Amino acid sequence: MRITEHIKAAQGKTLFSFEIIPPKKGQHIQKLYDNIDPLMEFKPPFIDVTTSREEYVYIKKNNGLLERKITRMRPGTVGVCSSIMHKYNVDTVPHVLCGGFTREETEYVLVDCHYLGIDNVMALRGDAMKHEPYFTPVENGHHYAYELVEQINELNKGKYLHDIIETPHPTDFCIGVAGYPEKHLESPSMEADLRRLKQKVDAGADYVVTQMFFDNNKYFEFVEAARAMGITVPIIPGIKPVSVQRHINVLPQIFRINLPDDLVKEIEKSRDNNHVREIGIEWAVQQSKELIAAGVPVVHYYSMGRSNNIKAIASQVF
Ligand code: FAD
Repeated sequence: MRITEHIKAAQGKTLFSFEIIPPKKGQHIQKLYDNIDPLMEFKPPFIDVTTSREEYVYIKKNNGLLERKITRMRPGTVGVCSSIMHKYNVDTVPHVLCGGFTREETEYVLVDCHYLGIDNVMALRGDAMKHEPYFTPVENGHHYAYELVEQINELNKGKYLHDIIETPHPTDFCIGVAGYPEKHLESPSMEADLRRLKQKVDAGADYVVTQMFFDNNKYFEFVEAARAMGITVPIIPGIKPVSVQRHINVLPQIFRINLPDDLVKEIEKSRDNNHVREIGIEWAVQQSKELIAAGVPVVHYYSMGRSNNIKAIASQVF
C-alpha cells in the first residue's frame, strides 16, 4: 500500500515508522530481525531500509603495493525490504540513490521492486563519497534527486529508458524525497533549498521525510515555508534520539544541524552514556508528543541499527 494511502486510512491519527540500515556483508539477517521485533508492537505501517554508498577499500598485494577496489559494505537493500515485508506483513520503503548508479541500474532496481510488490521508494541523491569534496554522479547517473524522481515517475507511466515496451502493468510507486528543516548542507540558503524541494515535488514526489531535527520549531517553520511555496504533500518529521555524548559534536558536523542549548547543557552535565541515552529518550518523547499534538501524519524514527531507545520512546508515545 502507498504511504499516502496509509496516511489517509489513519484518518488523522499519527502513525509510527522507523528506518533501519542493512547489516554489514557477512552478517546474518537475524540480527536485523532482533532489532525490528521489539518495534512491531507499535504497528508501523512501513519500515524504511537505507542504501549505503559504495566506498574504497585498499588491498595489500604481494609486491607490497596497495590496490584500490570499490565495494559496498551494506548491499542488499531490496532483498532486505522483501524479507521484512514477508516476515512481518508490513510495507517497506527501499532508499534508491543517484550516487553510484547509472540510470539503467536504477531501472533494474525499480523493476525488482515492482516484481516484489514494493509500492514505495525513497528517491535520494546520496552524499559525496568519502574522498570526494563534492557529489559526482557516475557516467549516465543522475546529478540530483529530482531527476531520479522524474525517472520513477516516467516508469509509473509505463515509460522505460530505452525500450519500447507495451506494458499492461505499469508501476505505481509512491515516491518519497528528503527535506531539510535546517537546509541541506550544500544549499546556499533555506529559500534555495525549498525551491529544490518544490522541484522534487513538481517532478512527482508524493511525500517528504525530513532530516533529523532537535527543535520542533525548525520543523514547524519549515512546513509553513513549504506550504507558502505551494508544497502540499505530507511532510513527515524524522526524529533521532541522542544516545552518546559525542553526538553533540558529530551530528552537527555530519548533518549541519543545531542542537538546542538546553539539550546540550543536559548532555554536558551527564554522568555517562547511559545517562545521555536517558536524556536523549526524554527529549525525543517530548518532541514526539508535541508533533503528535500538532497533528503530524507520521513520526519517523532514525534507529541507526539500535531499536531499544526507539522502543523506550514509542512505548511512552504510541
Ligand atoms: P537533492 O534533493 O538532489 O539535493 C542535493 C543538494 O543539491 C541540495 O543542496 C539541493 O538544494 C541542491 N539541488 C537540488 N536540485 C538542484 C538543482 N537542480 N540545481 C542546483 N542545486 C540543486 N543517504 C544515503 O546515502 N542513503 C540513504 O539511505 C539516505 N537516506 C536518507 C533519508 C532521509 C529522510 C534523508 C533526509 C536523507 C537521507 N540520506 C541518505 C542523505 C542524503 O542522500 C543526503 O542528504 C544528500 O546529500 C542529499 O540528498 P537529496 O536527495 O536531498 O538531494
